[in-house]
Amino acid sequence: MKTRIIIALDGFAACGKSTLAKALAKKLNYVYIDSGAMYRAVTLYCLENQVDWNNPVAIQEALEHIDISFRVENGMNQTLLNGQNVEATIRTMRVSEAVSPVSTISAVRRKLVELQQELGKEKGIVMDGRDIGTVVFPNAELKLFVTASIAVRTQRRLLELRAKGDHITAAETIQQNLLDRDKIDSSREDSPLRQADDAIVIDNSQLTQEQQLDLALDLAQICINQQDPILAK
Ligand code: C5P
Repeated sequence: MKTRIIIALDGFAACGKSTLAKALAKKLNYVYIDSGAMYRAVTLYCLENQVDWNNPVAIQEALEHIDISFRVENGMNQTLLNGQNVEATIRTMRVSEAVSPVSTISAVRRKLVELQQELGKEKGIVMDGRDIGTVVFPNAELKLFVTASIAVRTQRRLLELRAKGDHITAAETIQQNLLDRDKIDSSREDSPLRQADDAIVIDNSQLTQEQQLDLALDLAQICINQQDPILAK
Protein backbone atom coordinates (compact mmCIF):
# COMPACT_ATOMS: atom_id res chain seq x y z
CA MET A 1 0.00 0.00 0.00
CA LYS A 2 1.12 3.53 -0.77
CA THR A 3 2.74 5.41 2.11
CA ARG A 4 0.36 7.88 3.73
CA ILE A 5 1.52 10.92 5.66
CA ILE A 6 0.09 13.63 7.92
CA ILE A 7 0.04 17.15 6.50
CA ALA A 8 -0.29 19.92 9.08
CA LEU A 9 -1.29 23.35 7.84
CA ASP A 10 -1.18 26.33 10.18
CA GLY A 11 -1.44 30.06 9.78
CA PHE A 12 -3.29 33.28 10.52
CA ALA A 13 -7.02 33.80 10.02
CA ALA A 14 -8.37 33.75 6.46
CA CYS A 15 -5.00 33.17 4.77
CA GLY A 16 -6.33 30.44 2.48
CA LYS A 17 -5.40 27.44 4.64
CA SER A 18 -8.67 25.62 4.18
CA THR A 19 -8.77 26.17 0.40
CA LEU A 20 -5.30 24.67 0.12
CA ALA A 21 -5.99 21.88 2.62
CA LYS A 22 -9.18 20.83 0.84
CA ALA A 23 -7.51 20.81 -2.58
CA LEU A 24 -4.50 18.88 -1.28
CA ALA A 25 -6.70 16.26 0.37
CA LYS A 26 -8.71 15.84 -2.82
CA LYS A 27 -5.61 15.38 -4.99
CA LEU A 28 -3.99 12.90 -2.58
CA ASN A 29 -7.25 11.16 -1.73
CA TYR A 30 -6.73 12.03 1.94
CA VAL A 31 -9.22 13.06 4.62
CA TYR A 32 -9.51 16.81 5.19
CA ILE A 33 -10.20 18.06 8.71
CA ASP A 34 -10.92 21.71 9.51
CA SER A 35 -9.93 22.01 13.18
CA GLY A 36 -11.20 25.61 13.27
CA ALA A 37 -14.70 24.28 12.60
CA MET A 38 -14.47 22.36 15.87
CA TYR A 39 -13.59 25.49 17.87
CA ARG A 40 -16.38 27.32 16.07
CA ALA A 41 -18.89 24.57 16.93
CA VAL A 42 -17.96 24.72 20.63
CA THR A 43 -18.34 28.51 20.49
CA LEU A 44 -21.77 28.22 18.87
CA TYR A 45 -22.88 25.82 21.59
CA CYS A 46 -21.71 28.27 24.29
CA LEU A 47 -23.47 31.21 22.63
CA GLU A 48 -26.72 29.34 22.14
CA ASN A 49 -26.75 27.92 25.66
CA GLN A 50 -25.48 31.01 27.48
CA VAL A 51 -22.43 29.14 28.76
CA ASP A 52 -19.90 31.37 30.53
CA TRP A 53 -16.72 29.90 29.09
CA ASN A 54 -14.59 31.64 31.71
CA ASN A 55 -16.30 29.61 34.41
CA PRO A 56 -14.37 26.29 34.59
CA VAL A 57 -17.33 24.34 35.97
CA ALA A 58 -19.75 25.68 33.36
CA ILE A 59 -17.41 24.98 30.44
CA GLN A 60 -16.58 21.47 31.69
CA GLU A 61 -20.27 20.68 31.99
CA ALA A 62 -20.93 22.09 28.52
CA LEU A 63 -18.09 20.06 26.97
CA GLU A 64 -19.67 16.88 28.28
CA HIS A 65 -22.75 17.69 26.20
CA ILE A 66 -20.90 18.52 23.00
CA ASP A 67 -20.40 15.99 20.24
CA ILE A 68 -18.70 17.15 17.05
CA SER A 69 -18.51 15.16 13.85
CA PHE A 70 -18.12 15.71 10.12
CA ARG A 71 -20.04 14.50 7.11
CA VAL A 72 -19.27 14.96 3.42
CA GLU A 73 -22.26 16.13 1.36
CA ASN A 74 -21.91 16.77 -2.38
CA GLY A 75 -18.15 16.79 -1.92
CA MET A 76 -18.38 19.50 0.78
CA ASN A 77 -17.46 19.04 4.45
CA GLN A 78 -20.34 19.63 6.82
CA THR A 79 -19.80 20.15 10.54
CA LEU A 80 -22.28 18.50 12.88
CA LEU A 81 -22.87 19.66 16.44
CA ASN A 82 -24.79 17.05 18.39
CA GLY A 83 -26.00 15.63 15.09
CA GLN A 84 -27.19 18.97 13.72
CA ASN A 85 -25.63 20.50 10.63
CA VAL A 86 -24.14 23.83 11.77
CA GLU A 87 -21.80 24.43 8.82
CA ALA A 88 -23.39 27.77 7.83
CA THR A 89 -23.99 29.09 11.35
CA ILE A 90 -20.42 28.56 12.55
CA ARG A 91 -19.14 30.85 9.74
CA THR A 92 -21.21 33.88 10.83
CA MET A 93 -19.61 36.99 12.35
CA ARG A 94 -21.36 36.27 15.66
CA VAL A 95 -19.30 33.10 16.02
CA SER A 96 -16.13 34.64 14.51
CA GLU A 97 -16.21 37.32 17.16
CA ALA A 98 -16.34 34.89 20.10
CA VAL A 99 -14.28 31.95 18.83
CA SER A 100 -10.79 33.16 19.79
CA PRO A 101 -11.65 33.86 23.45
CA VAL A 102 -13.29 30.40 23.67
CA SER A 103 -10.19 28.85 22.08
CA THR A 104 -7.94 30.16 24.87
CA ILE A 105 -9.65 27.81 27.37
CA SER A 106 -7.44 24.77 28.07
CA ALA A 107 -10.37 22.42 28.76
CA VAL A 108 -11.75 23.19 25.30
CA ARG A 109 -8.37 22.60 23.67
CA ARG A 110 -7.81 19.31 25.51
CA LYS A 111 -11.09 17.88 24.27
CA LEU A 112 -10.61 19.00 20.67
CA VAL A 113 -6.94 18.02 20.39
CA GLU A 114 -7.84 14.52 21.58
CA LEU A 115 -10.50 14.27 18.88
CA GLN A 116 -8.10 15.62 16.23
CA GLN A 117 -5.38 13.13 17.18
CA GLU A 118 -7.89 10.30 17.00
CA LEU A 119 -8.91 11.39 13.48
CA GLY A 120 -5.25 11.34 12.39
CA LYS A 121 -4.43 7.91 13.80
CA GLU A 122 -4.49 6.24 10.39
CA LYS A 123 -2.55 9.07 8.70
CA GLY A 124 -3.62 10.07 5.16
CA ILE A 125 -4.95 13.32 6.58
CA VAL A 126 -4.64 17.04 5.90
CA MET A 127 -5.59 19.15 8.92
CA ASP A 128 -5.57 22.93 9.13
CA GLY A 129 -5.59 25.15 12.19
CA ARG A 130 -3.29 27.09 14.50
CA ASP A 131 -1.44 24.44 16.52
CA ILE A 132 -1.51 21.41 14.22
CA GLY A 133 2.23 21.28 13.52
CA THR A 134 3.24 22.34 17.03
CA VAL A 135 0.82 20.49 19.35
CA VAL A 136 -1.64 18.18 17.59
CA PHE A 137 0.80 16.43 15.24
CA PRO A 138 4.33 17.49 16.23
CA ASN A 139 5.63 14.54 14.18
CA ALA A 140 3.68 15.37 11.01
CA GLU A 141 5.75 14.49 7.95
CA LEU A 142 4.88 17.79 6.25
CA LYS A 143 4.19 21.06 8.03
CA LEU A 144 3.15 24.14 6.10
CA PHE A 145 2.76 27.62 7.55
CA VAL A 146 0.55 29.69 5.25
CA THR A 147 0.58 33.48 5.22
CA ALA A 148 -0.89 36.32 3.14
CA SER A 149 -1.09 40.09 3.54
CA ILE A 150 -3.90 41.47 5.71
CA ALA A 151 -5.38 43.30 2.69
CA VAL A 152 -5.59 40.08 0.69
CA ARG A 153 -7.02 38.16 3.64
CA THR A 154 -9.71 40.80 4.30
CA GLN A 155 -10.75 40.86 0.64
CA ARG A 156 -11.02 37.06 0.49
CA ARG A 157 -13.16 36.88 3.63
CA LEU A 158 -15.35 39.76 2.40
CA LEU A 159 -16.06 37.91 -0.85
CA GLU A 160 -16.81 34.72 1.07
CA LEU A 161 -19.32 36.45 3.36
CA ARG A 162 -20.99 38.23 0.40
CA ALA A 163 -21.30 34.91 -1.44
CA LYS A 164 -23.05 33.51 1.63
CA GLY A 165 -25.57 36.36 1.65
CA ASP A 166 -23.98 38.65 4.26
CA HIS A 167 -24.18 42.05 2.52
CA ILE A 168 -23.87 44.09 5.70
CA THR A 169 -20.55 43.38 7.40
CA ALA A 170 -18.07 46.10 6.32
CA ALA A 171 -14.51 45.38 5.19
CA GLU A 172 -13.18 47.32 8.22
CA THR A 173 -15.16 45.07 10.60
CA ILE A 174 -13.79 41.96 8.90
CA GLN A 175 -10.21 43.25 8.98
CA GLN A 176 -10.51 44.15 12.65
CA ASN A 177 -11.89 40.69 13.46
CA LEU A 178 -8.97 39.01 11.64
CA LEU A 179 -6.42 41.18 13.46
CA ASP A 180 -8.10 40.65 16.83
CA ARG A 181 -8.21 36.88 16.34
CA ASP A 182 -4.57 36.73 15.21
CA LYS A 183 -3.55 38.67 18.30
CA ILE A 184 -5.49 36.47 20.75
CA ASP A 185 -4.47 33.26 18.93
CA SER A 186 -0.76 34.21 18.92
CA SER A 187 -0.57 35.45 22.47
CA ARG A 188 -2.65 32.89 24.40
CA GLU A 189 -0.84 30.78 26.95
CA ASP A 190 -2.07 27.36 25.83
CA SER A 191 -0.87 26.32 22.34
CA PRO A 192 -0.37 29.76 20.80
CA LEU A 193 -0.31 30.10 17.04
CA ARG A 194 3.29 29.94 15.91
CA GLN A 195 5.27 28.56 13.06
CA ALA A 196 6.76 25.14 13.92
CA ASP A 197 10.56 25.15 13.64
CA ASP A 198 10.39 22.60 10.83
CA ALA A 199 7.47 24.17 8.95
CA ILE A 200 7.80 25.46 5.39
CA VAL A 201 6.33 28.93 4.84
CA ILE A 202 4.04 29.60 1.88
CA ASP A 203 3.12 33.27 1.35
CA ASN A 204 0.22 33.11 -1.08
CA SER A 205 -0.48 36.86 -1.41
CA GLN A 206 0.73 36.77 -5.00
CA LEU A 207 -0.10 33.15 -5.83
CA THR A 208 -3.16 31.77 -7.59
CA GLN A 209 -4.88 28.81 -5.92
CA GLU A 210 -3.41 26.55 -8.61
CA GLN A 211 0.14 27.80 -8.06
CA GLN A 212 -0.21 27.34 -4.32
CA LEU A 213 -1.57 23.83 -4.77
CA ASP A 214 1.22 22.83 -7.19
CA LEU A 215 3.83 24.03 -4.73
CA ALA A 216 2.25 22.14 -1.81
CA LEU A 217 1.75 18.99 -3.91
CA ASP A 218 5.43 18.96 -4.89
CA LEU A 219 6.39 19.23 -1.22
CA ALA A 220 3.92 16.50 -0.24
CA GLN A 221 5.27 14.19 -2.93
CA ILE A 222 8.84 14.67 -1.67
CA CYS A 223 7.72 13.78 1.88
CA ILE A 224 5.73 10.76 0.70
CA ASN A 225 8.72 9.49 -1.29
CA GLN A 226 10.98 9.97 1.74
CA GLN A 227 8.69 7.73 3.79
CA ASP A 228 8.56 5.06 1.10
CA PRO A 229 10.93 2.20 2.01
CA ILE A 230 11.87 1.60 -1.64
CA LEU A 231 11.98 5.18 -2.97
CA ALA A 232 13.83 6.51 0.08
CA LYS A 233 16.79 4.17 -0.49
O1 C5P B 1 -9.63 28.32 11.08
P1 C5P B 1 -10.66 29.29 11.58
O2 C5P B 1 -10.33 30.71 11.25
O3 C5P B 1 -12.05 28.93 11.21
O4 C5P B 1 -10.55 29.14 13.17
C1 C5P B 1 -11.38 29.89 14.02
C2 C5P B 1 -10.68 30.11 15.34
O5 C5P B 1 -10.54 28.87 16.02
C3 C5P B 1 -9.27 30.69 15.29
O6 C5P B 1 -9.25 32.10 15.19
C4 C5P B 1 -8.70 30.21 16.63
O7 C5P B 1 -9.11 31.06 17.68
C5 C5P B 1 -9.37 28.87 16.83
N1 C5P B 1 -8.52 27.74 16.45
C6 C5P B 1 -7.56 27.32 17.34
N2 C5P B 1 -6.81 26.22 17.07
C7 C5P B 1 -6.96 25.55 15.93
C8 C5P B 1 -7.92 25.97 14.98
C9 C5P B 1 -8.67 27.09 15.26
O8 C5P B 1 -7.39 27.92 18.40
N3 C5P B 1 -6.25 24.46 15.71
